[in-house]
Amino acid sequence: MAERRRIIEGTWNCTSCGAKNIPARHKNCPSCNNPRELTGKESEFDFGDVDAAGRSTREGVTDEQALDLAGAGEDWFCAYCGASNRGDVTACRQCSAERGSDAKAAPIADLSPQPPPKPAPKPGNWKKVALIVAGILGSCCFGTCAIGYWGNMTHDLRGEVTATNWRRAVVQERFLPESRTGWRDQLSSTAPRMPVDGAGEVPGVTNIRDCVSRQRGTRKVADGTERVCRTKTRKVACGTEEKCRRRDKGNGFAEEVCHDETKYCNESYEDCQTETRYRNEPVFSQQCTYDTYAWRQVDQREMKGTDDPPRWPELTAGTNERVRREESYRVSVRYEDDGVKEHVVEPQREDEFVVWKKGQGVTLTVTNLGKVEKAVRR
Ligand SMILES: [Zn+2]
Ligand SMILES: [Zn+2]
Repeated sequence: MAERRRIIEGTWNCTSCGAKNIPARHKNCPSCNNPRELTGKESEFDFGDVDAAGRSTREGVTDEQALDLAGAGEDWFCAYCGASNRGDVTACRQCSAERGSDAKAAPIADLSPQPPPKPAPKPGNWKKVALIVAGILGSCCFGTCAIGYWGNMTHDLRGEVTATNWRRAVVQERFLPESRTGWRDQLSSTAPRMPVDGAGEVPGVTNIRDCVSRQRGTRKVADGTERVCRTKTRKVACGTEEKCRRRDKGNGFAEEVCHDETKYCNESYEDCQTETRYRNEPVFSQQCTYDTYAWRQVDQREMKGTDDPPRWPELTAGTNERVRREESYRVSVRYEDDGVKEHVVEPQREDEFVVWKKGQGVTLTVTNLGKVEKAVRR
């Protein structure tokens, strides 16, 4: 790609008389005739602004005299009088001193294009992160965790048993014949067996009959194909755009090089594919009626009491029967903890229940959040 080169002339400010925007071709101030030096940033040139392509908004230099200065190499600064000198001369134009190894070099500015200003989030984000961390630490170490620790601490309180209650039930079940339905492939004929002393029974499967075809479920089956199109985007070359960069020549002039780069644009297109279409198809199976046995509740008796010893209701198992026993116990304890409260102890067995007596003293271990952890008879 063809390159386009231009020479851009910088400007400087005289610190002796205050003259501004002096073109670089003047090595002495046109107003006070003082030579340009390193001091006071006199030799840090302003090359003007650039546009979005990086192209200088200043006109390029075309006259011979200025182009000759631009091509003379980097300036050097006299070690004796400080004056700026062309790179291609060996004696100071101001004091005639020889250019020695102690002559100072010209400052070279970095004129490479600046990356687009990002929201460089250094201090702001740091602050945010620090705040969040502090927040978590704070809420944990001084908030939640502290509450958690305080809340788990316990204190002992005195209470009293106000009531004891027991409930006992006996459920009588009988192994009875019944008809059910099932899928033919899951049924195999088995003879039933009656329970002996309420155990060892087999429900059995007999007299499989009246089989009919019924829907058992569905399955997915391919049902042809369809063309499905989706709109997608891709990058495509769409002409060219100019890009320029500048290089400080170290003598008040900058060289600008511009060239054309391929430009890329988003283009939408249709992405089409052939996809298999599916439909749900019912699946049928043979469903049959059969005879079997199952436990059925035929009776239930319940007894409740308070201070009296727990007793079982009278209910015994007959032929092909069994009984199931259920028991539950409750001990109500009243105590004072920021008001009158009730705590219920639920013993699992009779021997654990009968030791509780109405009016008895109780020591309760309660957390600071009010949860009863332990209740012990005194
Ligand atoms: Zn001046
Ligand atoms: Zn000199």
